[in-house]
Amino acid sequence: MDRRSFAKAVLAAPAMAPAAAAQYDRRTRGLAPLTIKDAKVITTSGGRSYRWVFLKIITSEPGLYGIGSANNHYQTHAVVAALEKHLIPWLIGKDPDRIEDLWQSAHFRTYWRYGPVNNNVLSAMDMALWDIKGKRAGMPVYELLGGKTRDAVACYDHAAGRDREQALASLQKSLANGFRHVRVQYGEGGYGGGGFFPPGSGNRPEGGYTGLAFDEEQYVSTIPKVFEYIRSKVGSEPKLLHDVHSHLSGINAVEFSRRMEPYQMFFIEDVLPPEQIAWYRQIRQVCSTPQAVGEVFSHPYEWVPLVVERQIDFVRCRLAASGGITAAKKMATLCEFFGVRTAFQEGGENDPVNQMASYHVDISSTAFGIQEENQFPPVVHEMMPGTAQLRRGYLYGSDRPGLGIDINEEMAAKYPIGEIRGGGAYRTDRALDGSVVKP
Ligand code: MG
Repeated sequence: MDRRSFAKAVLAAPAMAPAAAAQYDRRTRGLAPLTIKDAKVITTSGGRSYRWVFLKIITSEPGLYGIGSANNHYQTHAVVAALEKHLIPWLIGKDPDRIEDLWQSAHFRTYWRYGPVNNNVLSAMDMALWDIKGKRAGMPVYELLGGKTRDAVACYDHAAGRDREQALASLQKSLANGFRHVRVQYGEGGYGGGGFFPPGSGNRPEGGYTGLAFDEEQYVSTIPKVFEYIRSKVGSEPKLLHDVHSHLSGINAVEFSRRMEPYQMFFIEDVLPPEQIAWYRQIRQVCSTPQAVGEVFSHPYEWVPLVVERQIDFVRCRLAASGGITAAKKMATLCEFFGVRTAFQEGGENDPVNQMASYHVDISSTAFGIQEENQFPPVVHEMMPGTAQLRRGYLYGSDRPGLGIDINEEMAAKYPIGEIRGGGAYRTDRALDGSVVKP
């Protein structure tokens, strides 16, 4: 086609249809001004013993709101008060589009920053703002973070047994359910199991502590033998994980990691408490057992040096405890540059909003490693439409705009958080002499 006939053809083309033109105009005009009109706290037990705290941010656009998780099972009421008395009065009237600016200013608003409760508050606000942004754009949040880098989010399952046969049977059940990654815990007493003296047994001070008593050396000697047995039965294909839950200190954590090396773990988790993270350098010098760290971290200076010095392999902070999606996407980006992966903490008392927030970061990040599974009862799926679906080891989000999850407030109100006995404290493990063992 020569230049003259090309120009003729262009001039002869029909004008954009009026409806399409209006749609194009709407999409390119920019967004109308928006303000935060109101916000409220929604709490619920989810029909179980959960202590979930959500923040709902309501905008000046009718029907446009966002929800975020401020989940803290152990200081629930402190989080509620921090949201209602301190965040919400500050937040009303602000521009919800300025997520990064609101994150920064909300963060410095408390003067003393970081710490679990402040982080919960910040996370809830941040997730709700991303939810609003996604709904405004008509896109799931992961699209705003760069789009999918994978088709679904792989999750690891939880297996446990009081003896090695039970542990093996539990693992095989997870594998039969389609999980490729399975965390295997062992023995009586929950986390630290395999290292406990039964109540009243062992050599104890007279008249002292009589409960389950944790012993580091016993744990270090027991657990590797369990994994030797399990590997001999299931072969090399299943990806095995184990959570030490900070029960070891210093050189015992080094020795434990070294003894676990032959069983080719996908990772061992929190082999050290946050107070002793400098020991990860020593672990790296003696073995290649992959380390996942950070469930109870609340300050970036806890994980940043571990990532940039490549002393760990997975960061596993909880989004609702570390500043929400804004904090997690930065964490994932830093990890990407240093070849470290993410394994955001889920499971247990976590909630479906936090799970969806993790999902959006996971599915859009090349630093994604694995996600912890969390399966909710049918009543929660009904109460929170859009709750992610877990099928054969993969998590699938709802793909609706925003976070893609909502909360039925009437239903949530039917399940109030019950009386929190003993202040809701996390359990305290002790040694034979009655001293506290770090959880
Ligand atoms: Mg853990």
